[in-house]
Amino acid sequence: MSVPASPATLAVRASLESDSQHGAVIPPLHLSSNYTFERFGVKRQYDYTRSGNPTRDSLADALCSLERGAGAVVTASGMAALTLLTHLLEPDDLLIAPHDCYGGTYRLFEHLAAKRHFAVSFIDQTDPAALQAAFARRPRMILVETPSNPLLRIVDIAAVSALARSHGVLLAVDNTFLSPILQQPIRLGADIVLHSTTKYLNGHSDVVGGAIIAATEELSESLRWWANCLGLTGAPFDSYLTLRGIRTLHARMRQHEESANRVALFLDQHPLVSRVYYPGLPDHPGHQIASAQQSGFGGMVSLEIDGGEAAVATFVEKLQLFSLAESLGGVESLVCHPPTMTHAAVSRQALHEAGIGDNLIRLSIGLEDSGDLLEDLRLALDAAAHAVTLKSVAAASC
Ligand code: PLP
Repeated sequence: MSVPASPATLAVRASLESDSQHGAVIPPLHLSSNYTFERFGVKRQYDYTRSGNPTRDSLADALCSLERGAGAVVTASGMAALTLLTHLLEPDDLLIAPHDCYGGTYRLFEHLAAKRHFAVSFIDQTDPAALQAAFARRPRMILVETPSNPLLRIVDIAAVSALARSHGVLLAVDNTFLSPILQQPIRLGADIVLHSTTKYLNGHSDVVGGAIIAATEELSESLRWWANCLGLTGAPFDSYLTLRGIRTLHARMRQHEESANRVALFLDQHPLVSRVYYPGLPDHPGHQIASAQQSGFGGMVSLEIDGGEAAVATFVEKLQLFSLAESLGGVESLVCHPPTMTHAAVSRQALHEAGIGDNLIRLSIGLEDSGDLLEDLRLALDAAAHAVTLKSVAAASC
């Protein structure tokens, strides 16, 4: 009888002791771009690294087992995984996407649709009437991003899956914000799961990568074929680093979440903060669904502050333990202003429709001491409040 493998065990032990040549505990890194043929007309398991590579396959196997899929493709970035996904669509197909998804995803779909690769409709997927109306248009695929970037909206994966199944629609879920430690969409009925492995999976902000995991062998085969044809597969060294990152994923996610929860509770009480977006807060509109479909609320917190641009600028600049940078999910805490950074490619109108305002700030809570993070946030908010007071005094004296 084999020992049951929980996600933490799967992550730590992925491909350990797979080296039959030397018995290395940690699988070796295979950088070679090509492999000799055994003899004329007879190739070995691998021939060319774009098509297949042992190190990349170790990462694909790990992701596949963590997401409970049938097969996985490791790609050069999260956007490469999303590009790969679009190759399952034909020119007459309709894709339903979230109106508040990651800005790069929005840009990709909008521009491919403009070239008539497929049609796209961006909707509020938390609105049951909008979902029903979208399914009535006979889409081929729906992409769900839950929690969404940057508003942390929660979509009920099992409910969308039931709709998708009854309409013969493919359901893909971007699981970047939670990782398979906190959410396993295939178990909830998804056909495909995507990741920007750049984020929590690698976790150390030193790799750009992606992955796509399919629930069936048939879908996985089609994705593998397109990945090789288009040249979207990931580099071996990136795969090696990401596999190393995954071994600590479980411990990291636990700490990210614990600190994020403290940060969200603190921000919720601060007078300058007008709104906190964190699915772990009981008054978050998606709290109940998140509690049911996730095994944790994750490490991302968004907030809105009063006081206009002066307050936003002072807040982000005064922070010392949050680096002002794109990306998320690394060991270090980050602060981002979505309208001018991650979502800069999205039009003002589309940002407005998605509810992404100029006073929105996104925090990726890292692994620093949470007491230090709270103190840093308190000091930066105090400075922002001071800047607002000075500005209103100046305005009154004009
Ligand atoms: N999906 C989500 C939810 C993201 O946040 C991002 C990037 O921020 C991507 C996909 C794209 O990933 P990458 O930057 O690795 O191409």
